[in-house]
Amino acid sequence: MDAYSSQMNKLIEELSRLPGIGNKTAQRLAFHIINMPKDQVQSLADAIVNTRANVRYCKCCQNLSDSELCPICSDPERDKSTIMVVETPRDLAAYEKTQKYKGVYHVLHGAISPMMGIGPADIRLKELMKRLEGDVLEVIIATNSTLEGETTAMYISKLVKPTGIRVTRIASGVPVGGDLEYIDEVTLLRALEGRTEL
Ligand code: ZN
Repeated sequence: MDAYSSQMNKLIEELSRLPGIGNKTAQRLAFHIINMPKDQVQSLADAIVNTRANVRYCKCCQNLSDSELCPICSDPERDKSTIMVVETPRDLAAYEKTQKYKGVYHVLHGAISPMMGIGPADIRLKELMKRLEGDVLEVIIATNSTLEGETTAMYISKLVKPTGIRVTRIASGVPVGGDLEYIDEVTLLRALEGRTEL
């Protein structure tokens, strides 16, 4: 590592902090960056800094947003009485890509995992319960079919049932252990259409 300038070492070190980036990849990226046109590097750096500074969570569904309400929550065409609960903004994006779901979402930003010490208070459940005080007819639980996702689905269903609101779970056609974002649109739609009562 000492073979490089200290600035280069710093860049490699920073890059290797990113998930999935080992030291080798970090070196490759760093060499790529120093050979990029300066304006492209500036634009990359600006995008990182500005996104981190300006992105926030939609005050309604907790999706990532540039403004107080995300584009989905502020769209009058979306059916606000149907809420699909997902673990991450990436799962939401996967369902949005199908262009068939017309309800709104709720992003939990995680799943309950006793093993990892993540409890109900560590995900955005309180915010979901608050929304259910409004005119909601159905909550579709679309957490992953992992142990954590199933635990979270069970927990939510227990919370929602006493309110009398319909609770459904997407069909288990979604491969077990599969992250929603890697599943193709046809499978996602089938899972949504085949959802069952909890
Ligand atoms: Zn929103």
